[in-house]
Amino acid sequence: MAARMSAFAAPAHFVCAFCGLLCDDLPFPGGDPDLQAACPKAAEGWAALREGGAPSVDGVSVDEATALRAAAAALARARRPLIGGLGGDVQMMRAALALADRCGARIAHAGQAAAQRNLFALQGGGGVTTTLAEARNRADLVVLVGGDATRRFPRLLERLFVPAPPFVEAGRRRLVLLGAERPRRLPAGVAAEPVDCGGLDLFDAVAALRGLCEGRLDARMAPVGLAALAAEMRASRYGLLVWAAAEFDFAGADLLVGQLQQLLVGLNRETRWAGLPLAGSGGDLTANAVAAWQTGFALPLDFAGGEVAHDPFADQSDADLLLWLAALPGLPFPEWARGVPTVALAAPGLAPVGARIVLPVAVPGVHAGGHLVRSDGVVTLYAPAQFASPLPAAAQVLARIAAALEAAA
Ligand code: SF4
Repeated sequence: MAARMSAFAAPAHFVCAFCGLLCDDLPFPGGDPDLQAACPKAAEGWAALREGGAPSVDGVSVDEATALRAAAAALARARRPLIGGLGGDVQMMRAALALADRCGARIAHAGQAAAQRNLFALQGGGGVTTTLAEARNRADLVVLVGGDATRRFPRLLERLFVPAPPFVEAGRRRLVLLGAERPRRLPAGVAAEPVDCGGLDLFDAVAALRGLCEGRLDARMAPVGLAALAAEMRASRYGLLVWAAAEFDFAGADLLVGQLQQLLVGLNRETRWAGLPLAGSGGDLTANAVAAWQTGFALPLDFAGGEVAHDPFADQSDADLLLWLAALPGLPFPEWARGVPTVALAAPGLAPVGARIVLPVAVPGVHAGGHLVRSDGVVTLYAPAQFASPLPAAAQVLARIAAALEAAA
């Protein structure tokens, strides 16, 4: 595949869609022998790309018109259809919402549970967040919270710790780990300093930190490491709390995110701090943003009965048809849906095993151009196609299914 791609002229601009950072500073990956060193996740995503792939129904290759008619017929028959996955670009999500409205379907992203850890905290008490650019240009103290965010966002620290930031002295910047593992990817010259939380778990450590920073907890009553960190946080001129909600795969994670946000609120009474909640991989921010723009609600949504309703704890296990949208990799297929008849609009190689109807689609930023919302949630980047491909964009295929539904009505 790599050899085939290198036969095309390298496009002017590459926006990597393999995680939410949407890095746009790498060369055309099809011609970059050092992609593995630059970013293992991008290299893995690029190596897994496939061309072609025929539409199929019940495992038999068919032409696209036949597969479209079969998909439309399955949707027309379904009583509780669910549109899931939602790994794709803005255009795909707009088309998916239009189809959900047309069919009275429910619609949810595959990574909805992780997205809701941030959403619930935001809904409950607000939040203070910043952009990647401001974090890179100004942060003098970066506190990485929980897990290892570089597992999911490999170039995070390269993006934050650039050699010559404009508004902070490069040598003054520090990286502190709060209940976090040593990052597997650290830029040269950046030291990661773990905080000794005195045996407290992450919930209690963050609560203690809040108490210390807000002057409600005497430093003599707290673990020494946390007391020292609180003093440094209050003395920082521009601090940054970074977390990836997908790393918080435990009960009450939204409450932990809420505590982090309230810690930021308290710090901003004396100095300047912001959060950088990492997300955006697999199109989760894109899907939720488009849903919010178009309906006023985040996902999951239910269009049953000609109205739109938001139910954050929707039980979808009564779905009798799943329309699975996977133009981007990395979407976990729900275990409960294994036996549910599935129509998959998926990039080659990404259709779930056992899908009844498969329609291959383009990967945005590779086979076709598309807009994606970046991890910081404020920038929607256009990711141009990297080479000519016959694969249609997912939005086009969804529009064709809608047209086939109309024709059959
Ligand atoms: S960090 Fe993410 S967006 Fe950046 S190159 Fe790696 S996979 Fe792509």
